[in-house]
Amino acid sequence: MASQTGDIVQNSLDALLEDKTFLPNLQDQSRERAFTSLASILSTPNHIHKSFLRVALENGRVARIPAFRVQHNNTLGPFKGGIRFHESVNEEEVTNLAALMTLKNALHEVPFGGGKGGVVINPRDYAEKELHQIAVKYVHYFSDILGPDKDIPAPDVGTGDREMDWMMSEYKSIKPGEPYRGSFTGKSVVNGGSLGRREATGKGVYFTFKYMMYDFVNSQTNLLTNTDNVFAKTAQAHAGKPLKLAVQGFGNVGSVAALEAYNCTHLHNKVISVSDANVTLYNSEGLNIPALIDFANKNNGDLPTTEDQLEQAEVKADIRNRDDLLYLDVDVLILAALEDQIHKDNVDKIKAEIIVEGANAPITGEADKVLSDNGVIIVPDILANAGGVIVSYFEWLQGRETQFYSEEEVFKSLTDKMKQTMDTILPQFFGDPFPLRQNCYIHAVMKLSTILYRQGKLY
Ligand code: GLU
Repeated sequence: MASQTGDIVQNSLDALLEDKTFLPNLQDQSRERAFTSLASILSTPNHIHKSFLRVALENGRVARIPAFRVQHNNTLGPFKGGIRFHESVNEEEVTNLAALMTLKNALHEVPFGGGKGGVVINPRDYAEKELHQIAVKYVHYFSDILGPDKDIPAPDVGTGDREMDWMMSEYKSIKPGEPYRGSFTGKSVVNGGSLGRREATGKGVYFTFKYMMYDFVNSQTNLLTNTDNVFAKTAQAHAGKPLKLAVQGFGNVGSVAALEAYNCTHLHNKVISVSDANVTLYNSEGLNIPALIDFANKNNGDLPTTEDQLEQAEVKADIRNRDDLLYLDVDVLILAALEDQIHKDNVDKIKAEIIVEGANAPITGEADKVLSDNGVIIVPDILANAGGVIVSYFEWLQGRETQFYSEEEVFKSLTDKMKQTMDTILPQFFGDPFPLRQNCYIHAVMKLSTILYRQGKLY
């Protein structure tokens, strides 16, 4: 496993070895052996499946499209994770993302393992009928390894409820008699999806930030003052203040997180900038997020890029280059686009002191270290963006029970679950010298190791 995930898993494993609470009943030699088994289990995915999807295009040609499903680990339950439709998808990326799912589920005690899928296409280049064929072929090729108790896909970048509905329907015809409702999550509500699933990731991202920087920090003032912890100092400098936010990415995660911040008026936070694949919009007084969402809904998901379009959207903003958002003088940066957005070549230009990872792996390992050494609080992906998979779990349960929860029940259960995780992790974070990402990784790996040990797999 290469790149950021690999490095951090390795660092966390090293920290775990120092920690006497890791399998405390074992003698030193056995602990080291157990640790070596654990490292080999987590650094290698269980299975990498790949195929070419042959799809007849409307122009008469036949495309051969590379497709992947990586099943990283199923210690805690069936493999679980999204399917991404994006032109930069590759095996290493899908493998890293699958490993992140294992850690994300372990961190939040969701009884699933980690998996991820990917199809190498830009969905905007294909007609709806062609996309339908691609979705159907994906299930066709991978049907034997998928299923409600084996591996349960969900939406990711470039996919949504439409694709999950198509896929579930294909699964149902290939596997008659199986409890097909639990085979895919993130489906439309009419097709057995859960209320609140679409908004879950974005809502969870904003909730994580809000809970940490307001509720937790305000109720734990002793924790922040009685310590030399550099992150506690950053938190204290921002605690209770009206903060300026910028949100990178205006898709399903970014737009919902921005709207949550906009609607949370009592905190006096302002979303002063948003961006998408084309443009950055900026207004120091705060942007009209509902109007921008309305515009994007009517324009293929895109933000306005011209003065005319801004007028049409009834939004006041400066139009800037796409990447300008990252370097603005803001307190909080919510990264909700793709991976590797902050890297060694642009990390020195980042001014935000709090960064929330709505996307998976948006900061490279090198940049992560630079930012953390400077006391920047990075709220990592596996903590902040788990809302999607947590509500996927609720959807899977509802599918089994053929019973439905109200939207209010879904969001209450979601925030309770995220709060529970943060109440475990945050006191350690403000007390010990590790960045929040490492704290989360140690916690997740510890959880996996305890179960693997009980199952006799660490020897
Ligand atoms: N693709 C989302 C993620 O990266 C959701 C996965 C799921 O619901 O299984 O967390």
